[in-house]
Amino acid sequence: MQIHQPADLNDAIRLLASNDEVRCLAGGQSLVPMLNLGLVDPPALVSLRHVAGLDRIERGEDGSLSIGAMASQAALAAFQATGQHQVLVQAARQMAHPAIRNFGTVGGSLCHADPAADLPPAAVAAGATFSISGPGGAREVAAEDFFVDYLTTALSDAEILTGIAVPAPASNSAGHYYKYARVDGDYATVSVAVSLSADAGVCSGARIVLGSCAQVPLRLDEADAALVGSAVVDGSVDTDAVARAGTMLQQAAEPLDDVRGTAAYRRRLIPGLVARAVARAAAEIGT
Ligand SMILES: Cc1cc2nc3c(=O)[nH]c(=O)nc-3n(C[C@H](O)[C@H](O)[C@H](O)COP(=O)(O)OP(=O)(O)OC[C@H]3O[C@@H](n4cnc5c(N)ncnc54)[C@H](O)[C@@H]3O)c2cc1C
Repeated sequence: MQIHQPADLNDAIRLLASNDEVRCLAGGQSLVPMLNLGLVDPPALVSLRHVAGLDRIERGEDGSLSIGAMASQAALAAFQATGQHQVLVQAARQMAHPAIRNFGTVGGSLCHADPAADLPPAAVAAGATFSISGPGGAREVAAEDFFVDYLTTALSDAEILTGIAVPAPASNSAGHYYKYARVDGDYATVSVAVSLSADAGVCSGARIVLGSCAQVPLRLDEADAALVGSAVVDGSVDTDAVARAGTMLQQAAEPLDDVRGTAAYRRRLIPGLVARAVARAAAEIGT
């Protein structure tokens, strides 16, 4: 097998386009195990490690956040985030172990699209937009539309995720990522990513996203709407509103059934974990 190490994005795209079976290599933390197990057998890999400019994490003057696809998970975990951006940093901090986070990249995790992974629900909760480049040029896709099915994304052949952009946080906002796992460092049994904003003691925006509860991150307009307009007093959200949101998500969930928990067990956990994650986000807002 050949390994290409281009320094230019267009060269990387050209190499990927040369054969349908050629794959990108980012941190290798999911792809290399798949190669070892014989699950994939590409004729060549295109490493993105030397492609210039893909590993930056930058806060814009307007407060927006831009994260390059090749930024390591460890770099994101160490980033000092504010407001709703915290949901991404907290998710990165809970991924696997330090050795994996040092090699594993933000883009690799998002493109692998494991339903139990931590960054996909956090990216949806943060309202991120994904930047993609390929033979047809550049395009942008909302995080929610990027995850299509189990290990399947909206990327077409020879397309590369170059980074994600997250809008500036609202002035009175917080993000929280709550991961429920069998042991520290394991994939989530169920995870809840929350982005919350409040204005004068009233919830002005909410996004609640479940991980490991469907083939893709699960968010419902009606569950988010149940929170908007409810009281946020002394760092806590109206518990009836949160319970309604939790029940809606529980009913919509089609959880995985695997070694980390049966589907029934996961479904049972949802309302309690939603309540816990929303309470922690509200406490971080502190109004
Ligand atoms: C023991 C272990 C424990 C783990 N625990 C967790 C956990 O608790 N939570 C969690 O979320 N993850 C966990 N992971 C997965 C880890 O986060 C991986 O780093 C991640 O899934 C893949 O990132 P990578 O950079 O290593 O990508 P790679 O393995 O290099 O690539 C993964 C896939 O994405 C494609 N790809 C990569 N980058 C791009 C790009 N920019 N554009 C287009 N396609 C691209 C590749 O072609 C490949 O198909 C664990 C992994 C291991 C080995």
